Amino acid sequence: MRGHRPRGLTAYPGSPLMHLNPARFLPHLKGLRFDHVEIAERRITLTVTAIAATAACPLCQQRSTTVRSTYTRTVADLPWSGMTVSLQVQTRRFACPVASCERKIFCERLTPFVAVYGRRTHDVRAALRRIVRALGGKAGARLAAHQGIGVSRMTLLRLIHADPAAEVEVPRVIGIDDWSRRRGRRYGSIIVDHDSGTQAQRA
Ligand SMILES: [Zn+2]
Repeated sequence: MRGHRPRGLTAYPGSPLMHLNPARFLPHLKGLRFDHVEIAERRITLTVTAIAATAACPLCQQRSTTVRSTYTRTVADLPWSGMTVSLQVQTRRFACPVASCERKIFCERLTPFVAVYGRRTHDVRAALRRIVRALGGKAGARLAAHQGIGVSRMTLLRLIHADPAAEVEVPRVIGIDDWSRRRGRRYGSIIVDHDSGTQAQRA
């Protein structure tokens, strides 16, 4: 159509996008398939789908092939030539195959490239840590924005203090439970990550 400017490229059978394997030039994005690429003024949006055939239940570790539903996760990736790159990751919720498992439904993990509840890829976090270590929060946030990574000064400062191993699991829903060191004596409380069923902190 005359004057019509396409807003993006959609993968369809036989389209070049279908043959574009993200792992070739974006090796950190393992296990994803490109579905759609949209290029706006200063932003590239990649719609991708997780393609692993199975996912492991985080509670009982059994693998499932039964997909119950899907949802979209928005994850920031490293910019391309100063253009912000946003991943719209089509992510699946699986049914745990073990009838007795307390986790009936679980979300597949995308941990090769993003933390469980992360909104930035591991590569973005690593880049931000390098920036804040070199420049501090205020100048670091300005440089990051100039390079296409939107981040607040306070988030940068939190990153530098965060243990990269610890920040992988940030509980979304927590609960508090009691425990006793000896039966009936010395009580304490634990904070439990409801999604993973694991202990987040003990007091
Ligand atoms: Zn399970």
